[in-house]
Amino acid sequence: MVKRLVISLFALTLAACGGAENDPAPSASAKARTIAFAETPAEGVDLNQVAKFAFGAEKTGSSHPSAAFGSYAKGCVSGAEQLAETGPTWQAMRLSRNRNWGHPELVDFVQDLSRKAAALPGWEGIYVGDMSQPRGGPMLSGHASHQMGLDADIWMLPPKRLNLSVAERESISSISMRRSAGAYTNSSWTPQHMEVIKAAAKDPRTARIFVFPGAKVAMCNAEKGDKSWLRKVRPWWGHHYHFHVRLSCPAGLAGCINQDPPPAGDGCADAQQWVNNILNPPPPDPNAPKPKPKRAIRVADLPGQCAAILSPR
Ligand SMILES: [Zn+2]
Repeated sequence: MVKRLVISLFALTLAACGGAENDPAPSASAKARTIAFAETPAEGVDLNQVAKFAFGAEKTGSSHPSAAFGSYAKGCVSGAEQLAETGPTWQAMRLSRNRNWGHPELVDFVQDLSRKAAALPGWEGIYVGDMSQPRGGPMLSGHASHQMGLDADIWMLPPKRLNLSVAERESISSISMRRSAGAYTNSSWTPQHMEVIKAAAKDPRTARIFVFPGAKVAMCNAEKGDKSWLRKVRPWWGHHYHFHVRLSCPAGLAGCINQDPPPAGDGCADAQQWVNNILNPPPPDPNAPKPKPKRAIRVADLPGQCAAILSPR
């Protein structure tokens, strides 16, 4: 009974997402992992079959060919590569989470973006937040997506140096770019932030970029030339300590399901509507369906290949 309580408390704590960059206690995932495998499974549930525990326990990529299976919020990645912890123009942050893994195309993308960022004044490169777990899949904390090795969080904090120690990478926080609950950017936002996001959006491998609404509107207003790249930049909750880049399925991967493309157009009016709703929230819809409690994703809910790439236990 006590044991089960501990597990559910952890589930609650870890379910809280967003602002994960601020979390100075990355040991939570390690702790949860220990609990997952040290405890008797809760009644009727084999924790090995709860996908976040099974995938959260993997320490390395699988030895299969590189492929992404399923969808961004229900999938996995085989043959993932680990982004080097430090490169000439990047550092991976929060190494204890072991989330600097991805499909090789994502690892290439991150390195390419870091070189573009390093060319900007005030930016030595990029600090890379969560990518995927070594075999992708659901995470113990923080994200619903990032499961196929095709999503990466890039910190908004401009790197001043790229020799942060492992300990510093656990303790340093990114910085928020928002004001008025995300309706506007704050004084930390610079033209270089826009340039980094623009470079990410213009990359043909990118499907979408998520950032808080005020940043999208700020970029819509600042862009005096071709606005078409802004189509890929989508307003979303959170995303003021980092922006999130989502790549399209790499060519030739039959098991990888792309999201529908963003609506046609630059999406600037839509982003402005998000901002208006932040400033003047519409009354709650009395007919809105109540959110259903979500059952944890099981290994069996994922594409069959995902069970096949887990380590034998
Ligand atoms: Zn993200």
